Amino acid sequence: MTHVWWARRDLRLDDNPALLSAQEDGPAVAVFAWTPALHFWSGRRRAHLARVLWSLREETGGALAVRRAPAAHAVLAAARQADATVVWAAQEYTPAGVREQAEVAEALEADGRELRMIGSPYAVAPGRVRKADGTPYRVFTPFRGAWREHGWRSPAGPADPEGFAHLAPDASDVDIDQIAAHGDSEDPLERPHEFREARVREALEDFVGGDLEHYSEERDRPDLDSTSHLSSALAFGLVHPRTVLALTGTVDHSAARTFESEISWREFHADTLWHEPRALRESLSTVVLEEDWTSGPDADRAFMAWRDGRTGFPLVDAGMRQLASTGWMHNRVRMVVASFLVKDLHLPWQRGADHFRRALVDYDHSQNQLNWQWVAGTGRDASPYFRIFNPDTQAAKFDPNRRYVERWVPELDTPAYPAPMVDHKAERETALALNQRAKGTQGR
Ligand SMILES: Cc1cc2nc3c(=O)[nH]c(=O)nc-3n(C[C@H](O)[C@H](O)[C@H](O)COP(=O)(O)OP(=O)(O)OC[C@H]3O[C@@H](n4cnc5c(N)ncnc54)[C@H](O)[C@@H]3O)c2cc1C
Repeated sequence: MTHVWWARRDLRLDDNPALLSAQEDGPAVAVFAWTPALHFWSGRRRAHLARVLWSLREETGGALAVRRAPAAHAVLAAARQADATVVWAAQEYTPAGVREQAEVAEALEADGRELRMIGSPYAVAPGRVRKADGTPYRVFTPFRGAWREHGWRSPAGPADPEGFAHLAPDASDVDIDQIAAHGDSEDPLERPHEFREARVREALEDFVGGDLEHYSEERDRPDLDSTSHLSSALAFGLVHPRTVLALTGTVDHSAARTFESEISWREFHADTLWHEPRALRESLSTVVLEEDWTSGPDADRAFMAWRDGRTGFPLVDAGMRQLASTGWMHNRVRMVVASFLVKDLHLPWQRGADHFRRALVDYDHSQNQLNWQWVAGTGRDASPYFRIFNPDTQAAKFDPNRRYVERWVPELDTPAYPAPMVDHKAERETALALNQRAKGTQGR
């Protein structure tokens, strides 16, 4: 009996319970839905997805079908073609993913078939770790403690690359090769986003045997660039966090625990979004009154200067230019540019988050929106609103030799570089005053 594997954000053969289940009774059919939602992705991210799919198709001996259709259509059609009654997939926890899997389950059921979900993109599925009274954790540190205590399974082992059945070609098959050829192939990427599962694994092993040792001291240093660069692989499921944790778990060094703590943030944000789907657009708490965020033509100009890396604050500009040319930005700099948008330009975090959605290759709903809320001070266990980054002191501290800013802002010490667009000290005062005003109206 043929089963179908509906590939989602788990684009790998190793440690993939949904795929292993689909292969249990013999060769499986593999299908990925190239949905209309992908039109809203940046060309770079779409091209990266196409390369990931291209590589996975190679690994499956050409069996992976990529079909241009909403998931419910693509999966049902594949199941019918394969005469399969069971479809296996990993469970999603974002609002869009939950909606999509409900539609697929309904379409299959109406046709006498069944969607079975197993596994998730997390070591511990969102919703599992709870306080003794059954409510979700709102504070990260106790969440992390309970998350560690809950623990996770060992990696599930590799799927059989020979264990796939081919579907007959279909009019909705996507020309992956053509899309994969677009995007950032021309970019001078020093560290291209890896799209092959085996290479991600090698890079992970290199990191665990190398830079991980200095992670605690160096992770905030954009000039050293020694973090794992695993984020896009995790976002597309080229590697499962369980596999990552199994490897770091073999390292008896405090840096490995610091690194695992970052993976735990990823799980905390996913858990928060699962419990609070409105966090995708809405602030979870009010730090500035809605009417006090700036808007209008001046705000638009300020936003564009930020987006284009022309603020006159070197670390902010370097970060925004790194994002524009590579689709990735160092975490410390993400925090600085986000703080600048919200607390120096007084623009709502959603505007910045939307730009990141269009620009990041590692974009992930829960990670992006909740990290923005963390910086803005509106999230669960967020950085307090009154803690306002000074972009120049951040630069002096984390890029002491100016290697990072000089790399991304070559005209730094020339007349071509703009003067600071705002007076940070004055904007800091404004931000604090706006916050006081919001506090004053709360509870009225
Ligand atoms: C405003 C803002 C927006 C962000 N948007 C995204 C996003 O869309 N997608 C995304 O994956 N990450 C996002 N992050 C988190 C973080 O910046 C990236 O995960 C990290 O920079 C990726 O580089 P790395 O893999 O080398 O990280 P490493 O330092 O090597 O960390 C390893 C892994 O831990 C996880 N991690 C690290 N830091 C965080 C964090 N602060 N929150 C959650 N998980 C973390 C990531 O999965 C990362 O790949 C955002 C952070 C900020 C401040």
